[in-house]
Amino acid sequence: MASLPSVAFNGNLKLEPDIRKTPTFDKSQNVSYPNGDLEKNIFNLKEPLSTFNEGTQFESSFYVPLLQECAAKRSLSNAQMVHAHIVKTGTYGDEFVMTSLVNVYGKCGHMEYAQMVFDRLPGRNVVSWTGLMTGYVHNSQPEAGIRVFIQMLEVGAYPTSYTFGTILSACSSLVYVKLGKQLHAYIVKYGIESDTSVGNALCSFYSKSKSLPSAVDTFRRIEEKNVVSWTTVISACGDNGDQMMGLRYFMIMLSEDIELNEFTFTSILSLCCVIHALEVGRQIHSLSIKLGFQGNLLIDNSIMYLYLKCGFVKEANKLFDEMDSVSSVTWNAMIAGHAQMMDLAENRVYAHHSGYQALNIFLKMHRSGTKPDLFTLSSVLSICSALIALDQGEQVHAQTIKTGFLADVIVGTALVNMYSKCGNIDKAATAFEEMHKRTMISWTSMISNFAQHGRSQEALQLFKEMLSAGEKPNKITFVGVFSACSQAGLVDEALEYFEMMKKTYKIKPIMEHYACLIDMYVRLGRLEEAFDLTKKIGCEPNDVIWSLLIAGCRSQGNLELGYYAAEQLLKLKPKDKETYVMLLNMYISAERWQDVSRVRKMMKAEKFGKLQDWSWLSIKDKVYSFSPKNWSYPLKIEVEHYLGLLLDEFKSKGYQSQNQQVINEEDDEAEPVSSAVYHSEQLAIAFGLLQTKKDVPLRIVKSSSICSDCHTFIKFVSETTDRKIVICDSKRLHRFVNGHCSCGDFNNLII
Ligand SMILES: [Zn+2]
Ligand SMILES: [Zn+2]
Repeated sequence: MASLPSVAFNGNLKLEPDIRKTPTFDKSQNVSYPNGDLEKNIFNLKEPLSTFNEGTQFESSFYVPLLQECAAKRSLSNAQMVHAHIVKTGTYGDEFVMTSLVNVYGKCGHMEYAQMVFDRLPGRNVVSWTGLMTGYVHNSQPEAGIRVFIQMLEVGAYPTSYTFGTILSACSSLVYVKLGKQLHAYIVKYGIESDTSVGNALCSFYSKSKSLPSAVDTFRRIEEKNVVSWTTVISACGDNGDQMMGLRYFMIMLSEDIELNEFTFTSILSLCCVIHALEVGRQIHSLSIKLGFQGNLLIDNSIMYLYLKCGFVKEANKLFDEMDSVSSVTWNAMIAGHAQMMDLAENRVYAHHSGYQALNIFLKMHRSGTKPDLFTLSSVLSICSALIALDQGEQVHAQTIKTGFLADVIVGTALVNMYSKCGNIDKAATAFEEMHKRTMISWTSMISNFAQHGRSQEALQLFKEMLSAGEKPNKITFVGVFSACSQAGLVDEALEYFEMMKKTYKIKPIMEHYACLIDMYVRLGRLEEAFDLTKKIGCEPNDVIWSLLIAGCRSQGNLELGYYAAEQLLKLKPKDKETYVMLLNMYISAERWQDVSRVRKMMKAEKFGKLQDWSWLSIKDKVYSFSPKNWSYPLKIEVEHYLGLLLDEFKSKGYQSQNQQVINEEDDEAEPVSSAVYHSEQLAIAFGLLQTKKDVPLRIVKSSSICSDCHTFIKFVSETTDRKIVICDSKRLHRFVNGHCSCGDFNNLII
């Protein structure tokens, strides 16, 4: 990291006058132009410039307004034309003109030209140094900006308060905390800490450095606080987790009669989003309308997002429909808002509904002609993943190619994950191979995807490739590696990688790592080693680990150990209803009625909602929902009849119902369900088989876990009907092909 040269502290401190803007010329000094009308000719400077003869010296007052216009319009070609003219007329000796040119090239985003002109300047002053620095910082090269600042100090030039503002914002974006603090010390020495622009920059720097007290402190020291100062301190509170303090500052700001701008409104509204303060947000929205911001796109986007965040979809949609003009930001806010509701939904039924609403909004966005951006595409791809909506995902894939965003690593990774989650691991692998650039996250995703699909060897091979490509794995990468080893039963390899993780990469094992290793021993039937490992974790194992052990004990018939694990699990009071149902099943099958009533009491105390059994099947663009309780699913009679036929056929081939589903999933107290009630995924599968051609894989999302009866049943279906069936249940992905499932049949956990 950069640090200031000693000259910065030892030099005789002196501040240059402020140069917030390039000095403008007195209008009376303007020379008249050949055609008399600058506005008309500014984008065709060729003619006016050509009327002057070569070698004619010009006053800087001729070029500077032209250059300012080029900067305002960000016109590189015109700037180059003026530059050429300057060279022709020999005016390049004029320090003022050339400094303006540095600024113009910076504004046009061409830092190579700006640096070139700067290097040939006849003389340098704080204006030219700061101009170059600002160019770098504004063109996302803050490190280069800091380098110029240090060079400037080394040659003994003095900064202005504007220079400090620029360089502090470079430190903020790089989170160079130490350098920023050095600058602060320097600023204090100069005695300009209370200067408004310097104070604002310091406040913003401390906020980005996650030091809210320092941000507030620097804000307080600003003598004349303007709207930027107030907005900065409000955002600082919001970004650093003290939303209430942000609201208090907003109230003080109102009482001080400071004129608010759109950024103040968006900052305070985004703060309301975090604490779900819908009422406050509504009041702020009406205030913004009162103050003349009606129809302001940024503010409308923020309030709409607030409605979505608080779950008020109708209000958000109404606002959206009323908006005169919408930008891609608006569409993104709508999509992200619905995706967010998907994550926050209390059950998978609501989540699924929100997901499809988000996809519909994306479709409308497409029809409206608004171009999606990186954010849109990657969030829509993750929604498709969660819904296993392959058809829609493939359409988005086509759009990423059309819009050229496929090269982006985040979109590329989202695409890889979408194919994998939708059950097409081969397409995921192709998409991964086609990525131009890979990051640690993309490598890790692909390794985990291979592991989830039971392709352990490929996962481990990819891990080796990742290491030889020089990419450093993180703890999540190792979760993928261990789960691959676990599925394939590769104990030696797993332990070797475990050591590698600790020694070579200095990664402390986390609960998920132990869960994978325990899962591996359990799958191999090595219960003792699995239980031994729980003692090495160093803290209390979590509910996932105890559930794994219970499943292992049950499949091995070691009930005593199973009851021990069940006690440990109950002590943790898991928040997941399926866990209790699993325990209940265990106690019921062992006829331990006391335990049964104990678990039922606990379930009542935890006030679980009903465990719903829903499945969704997508065929092309349409989604069909199925639930044993919902009698209105399509082709009901045909579906039940067909299921009866399938069951008879499978029974003759050795299918035996374990009758494990003793719990009616809709009502815990009910009698065991009759065999005529099919689980939702069975209904979905029968419908899919009747409605699609033989080569169409069935893709189903299920709201809870598959039970082991259904799991076996689906294996029979995949074999006898030669169908690929992908089911994403609440715990994992199952891909049934030819009588086998990618989960490796370790589904004893399932109720
Ligand atoms: Zn079932
Ligand atoms: Zn499975």
